Amino acid sequence: MDVAESTPADSLPEITPALLKKYDRPGPRYTSYPTAPKWHDGVGPDFYRQALAAAATQPERPLSLYVHIPFCKSRCAYCGCNVVADATADMDAYLDCLEKEIQAVASLLPERRTVAQCHWGGGTPTFMNVRQMTRLFEALTTSFSVLPTAEIAIETNPASATAEQLQCLRGLGFNRISFGVQDLDPKVQQAVGRCQTQAQTQEALSLCRELGFQGINMDLIYGLPLQTESGWRRTIDAIIAMRPDRLAVYSYAHLPQRFAHQKNVDALQRPDVAEKYALFAAARKQLMDAGYHAIGMDHFALPDDELAVALGKGVLHRNFMGYTVQHAPDQLGFGASAIGELDDYYVQNERDPAAYGFAITQYGYATTRGMHLSRDDIMRRWVIRRLMCTFFVDKALFQELFDLPFDTCFKDEQRLLEYYAQEGLLTIDEQGLCIMPLGSAFVRNICMAFDVYMQRDDTTMFSRTI
Ligand code: SF4
Repeated sequence: MDVAESTPADSLPEITPALLKKYDRPGPRYTSYPTAPKWHDGVGPDFYRQALAAAATQPERPLSLYVHIPFCKSRCAYCGCNVVADATADMDAYLDCLEKEIQAVASLLPERRTVAQCHWGGGTPTFMNVRQMTRLFEALTTSFSVLPTAEIAIETNPASATAEQLQCLRGLGFNRISFGVQDLDPKVQQAVGRCQTQAQTQEALSLCRELGFQGINMDLIYGLPLQTESGWRRTIDAIIAMRPDRLAVYSYAHLPQRFAHQKNVDALQRPDVAEKYALFAAARKQLMDAGYHAIGMDHFALPDDELAVALGKGVLHRNFMGYTVQHAPDQLGFGASAIGELDDYYVQNERDPAAYGFAITQYGYATTRGMHLSRDDIMRRWVIRRLMCTFFVDKALFQELFDLPFDTCFKDEQRLLEYYAQEGLLTIDEQGLCIMPLGSAFVRNICMAFDVYMQRDDTTMFSRTI
């Protein structure tokens, strides 16, 4: 089956309130499998060295680099990132640690230097001034060799990123940029403590276009307090008029038990599950009517954007940063809370920047959590990624990769999958498992069928699937 054909990219069917209620439950977004809450605490630098030694045996494979800048000037009420809101944070001291970590990690990958993807996230990476951004980029390029075709991306706030910073980034070689927008409605922005005008967003986008950035992305969030369908539709219309290459339309993840500052959101009026889903459905329809293609569960891209092209060719991938076209199987994470994925290892650094700094100074590494995947984990990860990226699992390809029949491996899942098939969420036959248009709203639920850890998980760790 052609992958593009299997993607329910056309109209999203009407979903009854009963169905929404039935499937609206806590569930992972599956940027990893097993999901981060299942990794083990108490994993240290020796574990990371072991993972790096395994990665060093494949010098021909290019790497993906992620650098986490954990600082923001203030905290948005909806934020679910690992952030310290401190306008006076000592960025140079943090850069000292990043440099040490980059050198320590690179020293264990002596022949493995090429980079196909580099992403700076946060926090707010443009918390750094141009001198600091240049310093960080030089630290990376001293230890690694960034390929001429590499995707070099940064997350930015259009209200605070300056022309000087954007020009500096482009000069360094950054070629992808993502803007946090969330909603253009001033009432919603005030409610969540993140104000930026439409003009600021437009200006930043225009400048980035002039500078030659490609794959320009905007992040939007539905489910925020005071969002109404009419206000949200106006936001989507305004965004369509700006024509970013890509959009990520995320469901607000309300987890006050994990992020105490989100308790402030509780006092405000948030859309209920039916209203929330209606916001997503409206955005999806407006974007698709405007020519955008649906990518995976919550992304959209213009037809000539490489994400849409990759989806059509069946080569779309997913990693901790979301959907990507670059397949760099090993990702190194630098900075507080940064996650690394090295083949069958996951590792994560200390979350707190002070604890991260202390560990780097002492050991050169700050690994504190991680997991070594079993063969069963690896097979399930592959299935979940195919579902998240292409909405289709090819049984023959599974057998070719793992030398085992899909139906035998997932005998215990058959009953639930058949139930989902009866509900109209998916089809399952000898060729494979294909998510139907109705099931595209519930892809996280469908992936949970393959998640053996899910039942034992503390589900309060995860946001709701709708
Ligand atoms: S700018 Fe982003 S990372 Fe910083 S507080 Fe707001 S949502 Fe969180």
